[in-house]
Formats: sequence, C-alpha cells, structure tokens
Amino acid sequence: MKAAIVTKDHKVDVREMDIRPIKAGEALVDVTHCGVCHTDLHVKDGDFGEVPGRVLGHEGIGTVVEIADDVTSLKVGDRVSIAWFFEGCGVCEYCNTGRETFCRSVKNAGYSVDGAMAEKCIVTADYAVKVPDGLDSAAASSITCAGVTTYKAVKVSGVAPGQWLAIYGVGGLGNLALQYAKDVFNAKVVVIDINDDKLALAKELGADMVINAKNADPVNVIQEKIGGAHATVITAVSKGAFNQAVDCVRAAGRVVAVGLPSDSMDLNIPRLVLDGIEVVGSLVGTREDLREAFMFAAEGKVVPIVKNRPIEDINDIFTEMLEGTINGRMVIDMNM
Ligand SMILES: [Zn+2]
Ligand SMILES: [Zn+2]
Repeated sequence: MKAAIVTKDHKVDVREMDIRPIKAGEALVDVTHCGVCHTDLHVKDGDFGEVPGRVLGHEGIGTVVEIADDVTSLKVGDRVSIAWFFEGCGVCEYCNTGRETFCRSVKNAGYSVDGAMAEKCIVTADYAVKVPDGLDSAAASSITCAGVTTYKAVKVSGVAPGQWLAIYGVGGLGNLALQYAKDVFNAKVVVIDINDDKLALAKELGADMVINAKNADPVNVIQEKIGGAHATVITAVSKGAFNQAVDCVRAAGRVVAVGLPSDSMDLNIPRLVLDGIEVVGSLVGTREDLREAFMFAAEGKVVPIVKNRPIEDINDIFTEMLEGTINGRMVIDMNM
C-alpha cells in the first residue's frame, strides 16, 4: 500500500510498504481521507522524539474492510475515524474516570503507532469512533482532531448559554471553537486575532464581537464593554495571548489552554487567588467527546473548512503550513 512515511532526515517519503495482518481486537480500515495537522509537522521534525519509519496521520476517516474474530464493536462496512487518541490502557485511573486522553500508557496514531496517511490502517476496534451518516468524510477528518479538540475545550470552559466566551486566535482551531461555542453551547463570543481577514470570517460565522489585538488592547475592550469574559479558550500559539487571556476574564473566570507554544506564561498570584481564576489545559477529547463532536457536525451546526489534496502533495503542504498560507484544513484524499 502507499503511505506517507517519516524519514531519518525529517522529511516525508510517499512510498509503497507492506501492512501486517490484523491481530485479536483489531480492524483493518481502507482510508479515504486524512487531514494534515501542525502536530504532524512536529512528529516529522522529531520534536516529540525521533520516529523514522512511522506512517504519519491522526485525522483519518475510512471504511472497515476486515475485523478480527473477537471484535464486536465494529463490522465490515462501518465508517470510522483514526484519531490522535488511538488507544488507552483501559484500566487506569484516567481511563476509568472519563479522562482517557491523559492515560499514561496512551498510544497516538501517526506517532507511537502507524497512522492514517496511507491507503490502509490497522485500528484497535474498540477505540475507532464511528462516523455518523450525513457527515462528509473530508469534513469528518477535520472534526477528528481540530473539531473534537475545540469542542472539548469549550466544554471544559464551562461557559453557559448567554455567557461570554473569549476565543484567542481564529485560525484552523479557533473558527471551529467559535462555531461550537455559538451554535452548540449558545454562548456570546468575542474573538481576538491579529489578522483582519480571519476576523471578518469570524464575524460571518456569528462572532458577537471581534478585536484586532494590533489596533486595540483586548483586555481593556473586554473588561470595559462586557465586564470581563466568563471564560476564555486560547487557540493562539503565542505567550502574549496566554498572558492577556488571564486578564480578560472576570472574577471566578476559567482560562482554557489549547494552543501549544513552547513557553511559560506569567501568572500573577494575587490575581489568581483574590479573583479565583482557574487555569486549565485541555487535550484533544475522549471517544465520547468525538462522538458528540461528530453528531453536531452531522447536524450541520459546525462546518469545517477543508480542501482535498493528493498524498504526493504532503511535503508541499508542510511548506505552506510553515509559510502560514493555509486557510482551513488540507485533507489528503486517498482517491486523488
Ligand atoms: Zn491533528
Ligand atoms: Zn489508561
């Protein structure tokens, strides 16, 4: 089968490789689509550790073509996803308390196990979440990572209908966070970015207020106009956004970190204690979160912006990613 494989010199080779037979508990998936994520760039560059020979891809969608004899959770013909949260141990404290993405023995697709940027992929059947009918496969691939990550982050923010959520950064993650916040959680949303085109898109998608941080101080505007946000979700990859986010919430507000700059943030301790601020990290989502995120997308409440590309374009896509010229999500279409 054809696959996108990480090389020793941090490139990606698209070449033929053999796939092993499936074992107990596994299923074989014929992949049709796989989104390309910033995380793939980190994996390819060895930022999380060197993985030469690994098949990339954790935003996969495909059809089950074979199941092991003991598998009951899937059947041949099911459409399923291959996500970053590939498998947990199933028995630890995190796995058994609805926090399986923090399992200390977690396996991640396209990093610690072979992923979905290939014609075929082997999944652990009980961990492959089914895709509902009515949801296009390219859109579903985007929900598998960006969608569930932002859906979960808005959930973690605890924002209630009618309350204000501030979203920092309205790129690939932020535009989905905005759609979930508006159309699923029924929140009031203020979006902060430094790109006018992206802010115009945020307006179109229903943002109640947009602020260009280059022209105005978001903290002042948010505190003056709405008395501080009830919560904030940071998808921007900048330390400045993290520091501002803590100051843009009202007392007892919650700050949810999703963006991943390799940095530390400043936390004023009196602000934290006297105003009862909560700062919390949010990492992708559980299988149940993904099921919910898929369902809302299938209902048309959330529409990812995607563009299909052939697998041979993978190195070009990484270059475009580094140049910041991508709008929405590039999705490898295995039939192109
Ligand atoms: Zn991803
Ligand atoms: Zn576990």
